[in-house]
Amino acid sequence: MNVLEQIRKLDEQKAKLLFDAKKEALERVHAAIKDLNELGFAYKLVSGDGAVSGKKKRNTDPTKRHCPICDMDGHDARAHRNQENKKKFTKAELEERGLA
Ligand SMILES: [Zn+2]
Repeated sequence: MNVLEQIRKLDEQKAKLLFDAKKEALERVHAAIKDLNELGFAYKLVSGDGAVSGKKKRNTDPTKRHCPICDMDGHDARAHRNQENKKKFTKAELEERGLA
């Protein structure tokens, strides 16, 4: 076997090792994300640096938010995080928060 053949064989081994290691790591990540989802946390795996091209990563457009507590658009449940008991905002509370 000449040197070139040896190098090629090593490259093949490296590729296979990397592939297997990646597959194993992905399986662990997928299992962990499944656990998180089942616990009620919406996580997903993103390849690369996670940047969405042309778009901001965070949804900062208030018109696209929907609050399941008030059943209205314009804000989301995060607006209720300071409430002790999560309940619908009154009209006054909405106005106070600039959400009305
Ligand atoms: Zn609300």
